[in-house]
Amino acid sequence: MLRKNDGGLVWSQGPNDHQKGSMYRLIRVKGGRPVSFTCLSHEPWGTDTHYYGGRTMPHMPAGCKACEAGRISEWHGWVIGQIDGTDERAVVEYTAAAADIFINAYKKFRTLRGCRFRLQRNNGKDNGRMSATLSDVQVDSKLLPKVPEILPIMMSIWQIKLDLLPPPPTPRFLPNQLELPATNGDHLSHD
Ligand SMILES: [Zn+2]
Repeated sequence: MLRKNDGGLVWSQGPNDHQKGSMYRLIRVKGGRPVSFTCLSHEPWGTDTHYYGGRTMPHMPAGCKACEAGRISEWHGWVIGQIDGTDERAVVEYTAAAADIFINAYKKFRTLRGCRFRLQRNNGKDNGRMSATLSDVQVDSKLLPKVPEILPIMMSIWQIKLDLLPPPPTPRFLPNQLELPATNGDHLSHD
């Protein structure tokens, strides 16, 4: 909800999607510490990234400093997940080696929402090859909380303006339109 007051300030009840990166921890799967979660994102999305300047950054389509420095790129994907055994919703990162399980689940179920994934490093090392398994599917995905699109979230985590990367293509499948209305906690009006 947006409201303008007379001074032109724009008040809102929460940040815009592209400012929400700080709301989600980014989880990278470590060796010996598998991560299981229920996916809340509708679609799988990722992009080429570099480890450059002490952090992971996306490969930029123009003027990529990491490419100019001769650094190779690696594809990574991200979804927002409800992490098993916690109350936490976090951005979960996966690698190219694990991408097929997300792509196939998306094609099969037409949404990733409600799919339960487990990611692990195969040889117990942090840089070990990642494997993913689809352990279960919660059929009634409309009962799951809504989450923002992942791309604005990642741009916020990377602190890169949204218009510097081209937008993703439109979804192959439309997200479930039968989402529940906002819960009581989202209503701030008082009688
Ligand atoms: Zn690059």
